[in-house]
Amino acid sequence: MTRIVHVNGDELAEDQAKVSVFDRGFLMADGVYEVTSVLGGKLVDFPGHLARLGRSLGALKIANPHTDEEWLAIHRRMVESNGIDEGLVYLQVTRGNPGDRDFAWVEGVAPTVVLFTQSKPGLADSPQARDGIRVIMLPDLRWRRRDIKTVQLLAPSLAKMEAKAQGADDAWLIEEGVITEGTSNNAWIVKDGRIVTRGLSTDILHGITRAAVMRLAAEAQMTVEERGFTPEEARAADEAFVTSASAFVMPVVEIDGARLGDGRPGPVARRLREIYLEDARASAL
Ligand code: PMP
Repeated sequence: MTRIVHVNGDELAEDQAKVSVFDRGFLMADGVYEVTSVLGGKLVDFPGHLARLGRSLGALKIANPHTDEEWLAIHRRMVESNGIDEGLVYLQVTRGNPGDRDFAWVEGVAPTVVLFTQSKPGLADSPQARDGIRVIMLPDLRWRRRDIKTVQLLAPSLAKMEAKAQGADDAWLIEEGVITEGTSNNAWIVKDGRIVTRGLSTDILHGITRAAVMRLAAEAQMTVEERGFTPEEARAADEAFVTSASAFVMPVVEIDGARLGDGRPGPVARRLREIYLEDARASAL
């Protein structure tokens, strides 16, 4: 089945979908994105993703090209046209094509809107979630506005490849001796029953999954401390996990080559994954 892609209001076969070489998304990484997971053909945590899209666009002074209702309709059409049961909808909005390259942008240029889907059968019941993942620590080389979900992803891509080269699955990024977050997820540890994750600031992306897990942990009477934690604390943790729209709650079983606990996903991570998935399915649109 040919994948159907959305470009500026049109739905096209992916080999027909085109964007200008002068698009500022291509030349300058001048654009933002969102990734929404799909479970049972429905959009998970959708209002949160739309709210963050609005904040990212606002921070870059790009006009939001659609209302929330329009975004929902476009997303639903993408899920429908591509027959997605479990997977992702990727959305990107750039500052568009001013017709030439210049650092200064031209006001009033229409943003470029692109959406595509990724089918991932078994996303919720993944073997990775049963076994857990291994992470290493690497320096955080990203810019200082990580709260804006821009498409400039070279530093995290390099870190991810370095992690793979070292036989791990992902990297946790360190700045001033403290972990900021994973390459494409928020980082959490559990020690003596207390759950720790870095607080919100411009240093990290404000994960939509993170927010849901904070809420669900509080409802389940679990204690969450929002503060930075060090690589030493992480290596000495009882458990660890990451959260993101595509991984949900993903247990971490090894940090810098050292096993956490018995090297199996811990009870807090397993429980949070279970209640997150239950809540995500129930609230999906
Ligand atoms: N941090 C970073 C750097 C990310 O790229 C992501 C995923 N896009 C996250 C955190 C998790 O955010 P969310 O739960 O909204 O997917």
